[in-house]
Amino acid sequence: MAHKISDECIACGTCIEECPVDAISEGEIFIIDGELCTDCGTCVDVCPTDAISPE
Ligand code: SF4
Repeated sequence: MAHKISDECIACGTCIEECPVDAISEGEIFIIDGELCTDCGTCVDVCPTDAISPE
């Protein structure tokens, strides 16, 4: 299991700075590396568009 970023992402960059394991990378919409994500949920709390959810 890993968290996922949906189309609601506006690529603001807020989550990148908060992820403790650097699992998030930039793009047109941001992407979470499922191999690195520990499902801590930190990014969910900081995303301004609620684009991140557990999956
Ligand atoms: Fe990083 Fe935690 Fe979000 Fe996974 S759930 S991408 S480890 S901040």
